[in-house]
Amino acid sequence: MRKPLVAGNWKLNGTRESNQQLLQGILANSAGLDHCDVMVCPPFVYLADVASHIAGSDVLLGAQDLSAESSGAFTGDVSAAMLRDVGCSYAIIGHSERRALFGDSDAIVAKKFQAAHAHGIHPIVCVGESLEQREAGVTTDVVTRQITAVMQAGGVELFAGSIVAYEPVWAIGTGLTATPQQAQEVHAHIRRVIAAADANIAADLRILYGGSVKGSNASELFAMDDIDGGLIGGASLEATEFVTICKAAAGKN
Ligand code: PEP
Repeated sequence: MRKPLVAGNWKLNGTRESNQQLLQGILANSAGLDHCDVMVCPPFVYLADVASHIAGSDVLLGAQDLSAESSGAFTGDVSAAMLRDVGCSYAIIGHSERRALFGDSDAIVAKKFQAAHAHGIHPIVCVGESLEQREAGVTTDVVTRQITAVMQAGGVELFAGSIVAYEPVWAIGTGLTATPQQAQEVHAHIRRVIAAADANIAADLRILYGGSVKGSNASELFAMDDIDGGLIGGASLEATEFVTICKAAAGKN
């Protein structure tokens, strides 16, 4: 049985004070969330601060990216080992904003996937198609290519303990959400691609949906067989909304 996970991607938002308020709101309302893992992914500079706020709670800590490199002359980068050092156990990699705005190719995402595993960080690998790609009918080709690039570089074994997030680019921050059926179709496809290499790893893999998830649409998405929770952007910045989404995931099974 896969335990649902809801991860909040705070993106480039927050201050020490607003983070504290948001976390207080989440922690104060997190009773009844035993059946869902809850994660927050603040900007790098706030990771240590957030780690101390959530210490003793069940809330998990993730970063929004990591370097493909371990150390050295890579100004501005943050390594997987540094993330471990400040108490972080997860990292989003290959988010569509990193792919589109910062040049993260499939090859770089694959390298980050390996770097994460080398230092005990569980990667949340984001995949998804653009609107043009969906309209051209190549959604599953795009997602297969993105997953295969990671699998070929790291080996299917590295998907054990990893998480995949299906995030149609056209649904991120737009208010447009994939229908539960559209999302389920792609989630099932991702699971089949991985199952072709290892059926057990695929069966245990958590595949999150991301793209304008809100309290009002979370339950119908999470009800689908292959949707194991969500990666939440905008709605993760509001405690009540985020907790409503977590409760929808907790009620899945
Ligand atoms: C995201 O950035 O990962 C995301 C899903 O954003 P939003 O929920 O705002 O669409």
